[in-house]
Amino acid sequence: MAVNEHNYWLTTTKLPRIEPRALPDRVDVAIIGAGFTGLSATRTLARRGAKVAVLESETLGWGASSRNGGMVLSGLKLGVNELITRYGRERARSMYAASLASIACVEQIVHEEKIDCDFSRCGHLEVACKQKHFDDYSRQAEVIAREFNHSVRVVPKQELHAEIGSAIYFGGMVDDVSAGLNPARYVAGLGRAAMHSGAEICEHARVEAVQRESKQSRSGWKITTSQGALWAGDILVATSGYTGRATPALQRRIIPIGSYIITTEVLPQELARELSPRNRMIYDSKNYLYYYRLTPDRRMLFGGRAAFFPENERTIRRSAEILRRGMIEVYPQLREARVEYVWGGTLDFAFDMMPHAGQIDGLYYAAGYAGHGVAMATYQGQKMAEMMAGDKVENPFVGIAFPGAPLGLYNGKPWFLPFAGAWYKFLDWVS
Ligand SMILES: Cc1cc2nc3c(=O)[nH]c(=O)nc-3n(C[C@H](O)[C@H](O)[C@H](O)COP(=O)(O)OP(=O)(O)OC[C@H]3O[C@@H](n4cnc5c(N)ncnc54)[C@H](O)[C@@H]3O)c2cc1C
Repeated sequence: MAVNEHNYWLTTTKLPRIEPRALPDRVDVAIIGAGFTGLSATRTLARRGAKVAVLESETLGWGASSRNGGMVLSGLKLGVNELITRYGRERARSMYAASLASIACVEQIVHEEKIDCDFSRCGHLEVACKQKHFDDYSRQAEVIAREFNHSVRVVPKQELHAEIGSAIYFGGMVDDVSAGLNPARYVAGLGRAAMHSGAEICEHARVEAVQRESKQSRSGWKITTSQGALWAGDILVATSGYTGRATPALQRRIIPIGSYIITTEVLPQELARELSPRNRMIYDSKNYLYYYRLTPDRRMLFGGRAAFFPENERTIRRSAEILRRGMIEVYPQLREARVEYVWGGTLDFAFDMMPHAGQIDGLYYAAGYAGHGVAMATYQGQKMAEMMAGDKVENPFVGIAFPGAPLGLYNGKPWFLPFAGAWYKFLDWVS
């Protein structure tokens, strides 16, 4: 049977149907992008009485938010030592604490809005591809305990079978607070919550330009979209890996990177238990990493950066075979398992691999989640909404340096991705 080039998660739910309607003339806040960031911010602002319109060029949840692995992870992409070296103890502590708070934030929204998305605190497992990666786990666990007052557990190779049915790794590290969910169901639920709070979601409304314009002596923005224009007092840009020309300063700072996922057929219960006895969210220690998990209906979901370029028909098709080979290296038991779905999506990386939030050219924004966006995008959406509402908000990702490309060699077209891909493969080989 041919592999279905379709996002498996979308077969498990229906995203809300939104009746097409004219854009409002004037709103307090316009949110660009209807993913986790935008919808979480919308929910918070609309519940506080703001008039909010979400402008989405495609449909609700169309971006990375419905396409991801559903891993709700603690920590950041950057290693803990690097975090302290770069930002100092105090800010690094707040950043790490924010990563834990972001999981609680997702949990609370799921609970409050009764979102049926299989949220479960099943924990995550990082597996070491080399002995030196494993040796570093004890040092990291010690720093996390000492500096961040959080406990992760190092699992030596001889005990790893209790965590994973694969013999290729040198050991692992477990964090029990991480969680898993079904991202399409979650973004659908967030969308419904945003609508119930009174916000308007405008699909197929691509923002083409934003320009400062005061109205009745209130400063604000004229927003030109593919469906006409509207005026907003403030704008939150929540476009992550799909950030485009309408917001050039952000586009120059965000690298869109493709990530791809396959899922197998539904596996027998015994086999699924052998592959992942504790049903963890799993990823490996490489730069060019694989991430994988069981879906709630017991398929193996296996993802990775099979191509660095954002998704298109060619990269998706190629990824199915590359990822299947990767999956069988990890789990030879899956040699006969049919791969049923393959799809791709675009991740948002900043040049320093950190999340960033605040204001740029007068526009509010949050982006750069680097593969940790399920939790962090939800959290940043909420935090930015509170900031826009005038609250005094603690957000350690506001105000840190937000670098563009060295020598300004990037205008939003990531010509360097093949080199970056090769570079990361090289690093994986030597480090
Ligand atoms: C394959 C894959 C696997 C991943 N796995 C995980 C994981 O397991 N765990 C994890 O934490 N993170 C993961 N991520 C990352 C995570 O999905 C993202 O960080 C997160 O979804 C970002 O949410 P967002 O709302 O900021 O952006 P998105 O969900 O990407 O939404 C941005 C939206 O903006 C819209 N848009 C763009 N430009 C305009 C415009 N001009 N006008 C109007 N609308 C516009 C787009 O159409 C899009 O719908 C993964 C990502 C991918 C692609």
